[in-house]
Amino acid sequence: DSKDFDSETESVCPFCGVGCKVSLKVKDGKVKYVEGINGPANEGRLCVKGRFGFDYIHHSHRLTKPLIRREDAPAKGLNVHPDNWNEFFREASWDEAMAFAAGGLSGLRDQHGGKAVAGFGSAKCTNEEAYLFQKFIRQGFLHNNVDHCTRLCHASSVTALIENVGSGAVTATFNEIENADVAIIIGANPIENHPVAATYFKQFTKRGGKLIVMDPRGVGLRRFAEEMVQFRPGTDVSMLNAIMHVIVEEELYDSQYIHRWTENWEAEKAHLKDFSPEAMSEICGVSPDQLRRVARIFAGAEAGMIFWGMGVSQHIHGTDNSRCLISLALMTGNVGKPGAGLHPLRGQNNVQGASDAGLVPMFLPDYQSVMDDGIRKAFTDVWGAGDFSNEKGLTVTEIMDEAYAGNIKGMYIQGENPAMSDPDVEHARDALAKLEHLVVQDIFLTETANYADVILPASALYEKNGTVSNTNRQVQRVRPAVTPPGDAREDWKITVELAQRVGLNWDYGDVSEVFNEMKINMASLNNITWERLKTETITYPSLSETDPGQAIVFGDGFPRAEGRAKFTPASVIAPDESPDADYPMIMTTGRQLEHWHTGSMTRRSNVLDAVEPEANCSLHPKTLRRLGVEPGEHVRLSTRRGSIVIMARADRAVAEDMVFVPFAYVEAAANILTNPALDPYGKIPEFKFSAVKVEKA
Ligand code: SF4
Repeated sequence: DSKDFDSETESVCPFCGVGCKVSLKVKDGKVKYVEGINGPANEGRLCVKGRFGFDYIHHSHRLTKPLIRREDAPAKGLNVHPDNWNEFFREASWDEAMAFAAGGLSGLRDQHGGKAVAGFGSAKCTNEEAYLFQKFIRQGFLHNNVDHCTRLCHASSVTALIENVGSGAVTATFNEIENADVAIIIGANPIENHPVAATYFKQFTKRGGKLIVMDPRGVGLRRFAEEMVQFRPGTDVSMLNAIMHVIVEEELYDSQYIHRWTENWEAEKAHLKDFSPEAMSEICGVSPDQLRRVARIFAGAEAGMIFWGMGVSQHIHGTDNSRCLISLALMTGNVGKPGAGLHPLRGQNNVQGASDAGLVPMFLPDYQSVMDDGIRKAFTDVWGAGDFSNEKGLTVTEIMDEAYAGNIKGMYIQGENPAMSDPDVEHARDALAKLEHLVVQDIFLTETANYADVILPASALYEKNGTVSNTNRQVQRVRPAVTPPGDAREDWKITVELAQRVGLNWDYGDVSEVFNEMKINMASLNNITWERLKTETITYPSLSETDPGQAIVFGDGFPRAEGRAKFTPASVIAPDESPDADYPMIMTTGRQLEHWHTGSMTRRSNVLDAVEPEANCSLHPKTLRRLGVEPGEHVRLSTRRGSIVIMARADRAVAEDMVFVPFAYVEAAANILTNPALDPYGKIPEFKFSAVKVEKA
């Protein structure tokens, strides 16, 4: 009852890219209750994370004071936790900590050049914070070595989308499924990872929509599927090319659409000749009959959508996987009309917005190339800065390699945890240990903070003001329901002061001033005003000050030459490492319903941690029997990178030669095992396929 609370504040859930709107009920300075409200993406619904995953913001582990590493501290990398932190760090005033943080970064710049310093921003921060972060590196250090976790999730999807349809965002909101006849969901597990979006997918099947689920694991939505296509891990291109082969062979494609809106069709058609279902069945493990059925269902529908997740993107052939999905949508005329579209389901609540805001090494805000002199000038004119490099910057994993090699000597990391989230994480940890000056800005002592020289206490989403953009391109306001604990500050304010202290002439009195600066060079924000956002959620592009925004784009052409989308043929590439006698099984990683990414928030949320307290992996019951392991006992998982011990669960949905490992658990960190091999285009690591040995522990 509202009289039980002191205040109620509208904001947005801090977890997944669905972007559910919430009402935060506050009593005695603490959030006590979270309720879903009527946002366009959730219509009042919430999943267990949004409903119960809020008390981490009041956890006793919150950082409340700036910390500086003690001169007599033990070696970097040892586990710092709330009970022993003062062996490693001492409390400092903001003035001392900021002087130390900025002095270290600018000192490295002055001694070795700007490229000695790199930055990782965060998809958990707001659009304004992401914008300021990339501006800090570009203006302050004159290069583009700035990135964030999109590199680890949908970088390959975005690469393929920009290449072939001219824009990295979704072409239709997930709500458009209500107008679709058929939908493919591939490499995604929405019931666990986008649970509120999954409710729309289930409703779609209840009104007769045909759902085709494609995944090496039998994910939960299979229960609602017309076809569950369980293919061998890493064989997406062979399977998708076979489906498109059938569409060509049986002339099920949309000639009119292809002729009017696309280019390179003849090359695609010729390329697909070699991918018959019979030939590809051997590779992907799907019967020719099922491949033909899926082709006919999808191509025969009036309107179809394609959704995909990290199962598609996190491979060395992630860009090729996305190219195939784009080609499938284009050849069937399924872009730019109601009930049709391409939708990579975004993971973090603001990974779309952070990417839009330019927190990527190759693009300025709105995906404008850093290599274009005119575009760079448009930004430096606004920023009043010297020109920054016209070279594409380094990505997350490349920055880590350069740090390991000693070429990058200083880093500013805001709200990211690469010591848990990077592939082959021991390599990333060694790289962090080599840095001469590491500034970590976060709300907890993360594993990355083990390597920090200075730690700046920052804010949780429910403590800050700004905007975020969800998977649907919907821009929404977040508002502070409570104040940050102790001396902690909003992230954007910390970046502004740091910028001033490294010599930049920044002056922002309010976060709305940052938003208004973004609008100058971001056409995607046309007609979206701070005033409107006080009461509205607005989908970009918005065509007028009264337009709530366009749920579907590209009905009248693509933002490419001559308005045409492009077919880019994709060939089969084997995963980077194959199972062999030493490592005979396949490991794949992902999330589970209750925990979020590296677990720093959800494992400090009482209800979520109580439901899922222990690191676990999933194996087929037959595999467990073969190993002599009972469910609940522990197994040792080993790859060429390292090994972990973890509790085993039985799950019939996992293939007999596979193990699924969530990556939220520091005590059994999945990324000790993962393969850092990169997709050559999107530079995304192959998280979804590692050769692994599984033994009873
Ligand atoms: Fe939050 Fe995503 Fe759950 Fe919505 S579906 S409540 S955004 S975690």
